[in-house]
Amino acid sequence: MKEMNPNTPVCQSCGMPMSDPNEYGKNADGTANTKYCIYCCPKGAENMSGTLEEMIDFCAPLEVKLGLHPDEAAARAALAAYLPTLERWKKA
Ligand SMILES: [Zn+2]
Repeated sequence: MKEMNPNTPVCQSCGMPMSDPNEYGKNADGTANTKYCIYCCPKGAENMSGTLEEMIDFCAPLEVKLGLHPDEAAARAALAAYLPTLERWKKA
């Protein structure tokens, strides 16, 4: 695991740390959205779609490839526990 700067914002949809401003999401008007990453939020938080399940499906193989987890089952279990703590998935 990379060492994390505590000031690095973390995407509140997928949990990716955004260490570079190029990774910040975009609002519908083109300004930076530091709450979400560019992959989750390329054109405004109001236009984000997809479910928590889809996010896990998308992230699990990626995180295995990044070496964060030994296999997809471990990645899915970690994501299922972690993602619901992020702002996008928190139940109001
Ligand atoms: Zn994201």
